[in-house]
Amino acid sequence: MTTVLFLLFVMSVTSNYLTERAFLDVERRFFEQDMARVQNRLDQELRIVGRYAFDWGAWDSMYYFMEEKDLPRFQEMLDPMSLRALGLDILAVVDTDFSPVIAYTVTETGEERKLTPELMSGLKDLAPKLMEGFSEGLLSDILSIGGELYLAGISPIILTNHMGSPRGFLLTGTVLAAKIPEIAASLGTSFSVTLPENPDPLLETGAVEISSSPEGMAVVLQGRKRAFSQGIPLEVRLTAPRSIYDEGRRAIHYSYLWIFLSGGGILVVVMVLIESLVLRRLDGLRSVSDRIVSEGDTGLRVPVSGSDEIANLSSSFNTLLDTLESLVSDIPDALFICSPDGTILSANREAHRSVGSGSSKTLAGKNVSSFVKKTETLKDIEEDPATGSIFSGGNVFEAELAGGQETALPVEIRRQEIHYGRLPVVLFLARDLTERKGFENRLAKMAYFDDLTGLPNRSAFIRDVNRAIKDGSRTGQIFCAALMDLDRFKLVNEQVGNINADRILSTISRRLEEVLGENFRLYRTGGDEFSLLIACPPGGNPREGTDRLMDRIHRAVGIPCSVGSETIFPSASIGVLNDIGRFQSSSEVINRLVHALREAKKIGLGFTSYHLEEENELSGPGTVNILRLSAEMHAGLEKGEFVPYFQPIYSASDGSLSGFETLARWMHPVQGLLPPSDFIPLAENTGFAGKIDMYMMKQALIASEKLRSRNSQASYVFSSNGSPLFFQTPHIVEVLEDLLRETKADPNLFTLEVTESLLAENLCEVSRKLTSLKELGVRIALDDFGTGYSSLQYINQLPLDYIKLDQSFVARLFDSGKDERLLRTIINMGKELRLEIVAEGVETKEQLEWLRTAGCDKIQGFLFSRPVPWEDIEKMTGGDHRP
Ligand code: C2E
Ligand code: CA
Ligand code: CA
Repeated sequence: MTTVLFLLFVMSVTSNYLTERAFLDVERRFFEQDMARVQNRLDQELRIVGRYAFDWGAWDSMYYFMEEKDLPRFQEMLDPMSLRALGLDILAVVDTDFSPVIAYTVTETGEERKLTPELMSGLKDLAPKLMEGFSEGLLSDILSIGGELYLAGISPIILTNHMGSPRGFLLTGTVLAAKIPEIAASLGTSFSVTLPENPDPLLETGAVEISSSPEGMAVVLQGRKRAFSQGIPLEVRLTAPRSIYDEGRRAIHYSYLWIFLSGGGILVVVMVLIESLVLRRLDGLRSVSDRIVSEGDTGLRVPVSGSDEIANLSSSFNTLLDTLESLVSDIPDALFICSPDGTILSANREAHRSVGSGSSKTLAGKNVSSFVKKTETLKDIEEDPATGSIFSGGNVFEAELAGGQETALPVEIRRQEIHYGRLPVVLFLARDLTERKGFENRLAKMAYFDDLTGLPNRSAFIRDVNRAIKDGSRTGQIFCAALMDLDRFKLVNEQVGNINADRILSTISRRLEEVLGENFRLYRTGGDEFSLLIACPPGGNPREGTDRLMDRIHRAVGIPCSVGSETIFPSASIGVLNDIGRFQSSSEVINRLVHALREAKKIGLGFTSYHLEEENELSGPGTVNILRLSAEMHAGLEKGEFVPYFQPIYSASDGSLSGFETLARWMHPVQGLLPPSDFIPLAENTGFAGKIDMYMMKQALIASEKLRSRNSQASYVFSSNGSPLFFQTPHIVEVLEDLLRETKADPNLFTLEVTESLLAENLCEVSRKLTSLKELGVRIALDDFGTGYSSLQYINQLPLDYIKLDQSFVARLFDSGKDERLLRTIINMGKELRLEIVAEGVETKEQLEWLRTAGCDKIQGFLFSRPVPWEDIEKMTGGDHRP
């Protein structure tokens, strides 16, 4: 616009200048013509005046007049009236002496008037020059005579035939000032002729000079030379209105105005067209791009109309946006573009699909945190996920992507803050972790599950116990735990082979799962070891609930299993810990469970023992390192730290002392005297039990031989315990034979106590071994009878001499009529099988009375004596002892 205006200005100035110049030229030409006309006219007038003078000067009468100077004759030739009629104002006749003969001026009325002194002196001054001039042929000129300008004609006075020397000259003239108005009127040009006092040098050159008067009139000057060497040239001055120039100027101004008006009009029209056709549409384009930049709405498009360049530009802008949008929307991962407060500005196709949003625009305006929920990662599994905000913490985290009813999609979120145009936004890029999670789950399964049974494994148990402790402290939920060990499973393994043993384990685990409800979780925590985590129902007595549960478990485990040709009678010992919330960690819980299990094992096969905090707080070897303990045991056996204690056994009928059971004690150098419960279970596990058994057996034989050698009449029977492991040792018959030979003891005074667990082994094999032993002369007692699930039918097939009723029977004797009946039946059956019945754990007189009446043969228990060291036995056998 400015450029256009500037160009217009420059154009108008130059055209103005050129046009003005042209007008000035034209004007000058006109003025030059005017001036030429004035000069010509003056020349013409001069010629007329000159002609008069020349005519009259050549008159012969005039010539002769000059001789006689007869004035009246002159009057006849020329009178003032005739001069007036010719318009002449002055007449002078001058003789060769330069003195005027006749000189006068003519008044308006045609009368003669004497020359004024100025005129006369002017004429006399001029006379020599004039005389000289016409000799050169000059006949007329504008002369200044006495301060007045005259159109003058000068002629020598000569004869008509131009012969003879001149007798003076004749001058006639018209006052120029009087003539000018007439000339001006006829030419239509007003002018003046003056004799300047200080003439412009230009006048000499004859050039026409044009200038402007203050009144706006043109002043045209030209010099006019005078013939009769009067020196200074005349100044001819034309004064004329500058009509051409002024008209020209006006025309220029009008054209100016026109140009400006029309140019302005065109400009306005052009601007209006540009505005409506170009600018408004470009503005639309810009406002769309501005909105995209400031609001982040990539869905906006520019309206396209027409088929011009702007329409093309708009549609390629839209195509660019489409490309960008499809680039974002076709990313295979879900992408949310949100404002810093979480409001979704836009989300791609995958994001809509992932949250189950049908239409592709429905997410905008909602908050991203209602779709993206931070989850715990494997690393911080213990953390509370509820505290995690998707706007805090690291920029990469795991989350679930869900929209309402859809199943949540596990994703890894990458969060990034960027500038989207001028808008600060937060990007959430969600990568589907379904596959990775599946893999992780499979790995976790491998880490936390047992292959054989499909049950969660030991690691899972540890993890869950820790969780339960934590959850319990938060929610108040009480959890109990149980550790269950299948009795003598090692033997089962050896008997039926690994594959069959595995089958039995699977069967048992299936049965357990059937028995357990949803509040229990079962784990396989070792080869033949299962664990239980029990969520106790609120309000109830946890002990009662677990009691019933353990009962069900025992029954389920105890169902005989047939594998191949063999039938196995499984049983399990269980250690229970009520309310694990009292403890800090899984290891504390597991230590106590192990202890309780050991207690259960101590009771016999298929028993449950509860860990009681007050009575059984762990101490001693129970908590020490098993490897160290077993090393200590080996050393202890060599150093003689294992000593036999003896518990008397009495005849029920007459109360006489009939024998002693040899029971192992460990004189531990640091912990003092340890009961078998502190080392036998471990010894059984490490295989060391067989050595202890052998050692105690020898002690029993030595003791028996000592008493016999002192009193050959006394026939005290010494018994010792043989663990299943001991029974497994090869050549036990030979070993016992050697021992008998070595100690010289009487085999008839020795009884080997074996437990029911032997029955898990091949019955024929056991029967054969027992028979071989019996052939040596020793007796066999079935210890802890009633704790397992052995049936009397099998017992019948074994070469037994005694059955030792388990102490738990005796302890429960008066608890229920059922127990009483059961015990009586057992005693009667034993009798029928011709077995002697020994009752263990007799602590009260009532028990003793009942057992004696029921037909029990022998009695052992604290009622009479605890196990005592050898010294006490020596005293005891010094004389007869009656209860
Ligand atoms: P057991 O063979 O059943 O031995 C009887 C246990 O009952 C002994 O415990 C004895 O002290 C206890 N007892 C006797 N009368 C009463 C009573 O009236 N009330 C109560 N509550 N208990 C009574 P001890 O000596 O602690 O032995 C525990 C178990 O250790 C034995 O049970 C036996 O299975 C095992 N054991 C002991 N010595 C040996 C050994 O040399 N070899 C093997 N393999 N096991 C042994
Ligand atoms: Ca025993
Ligand atoms: Ca026993």
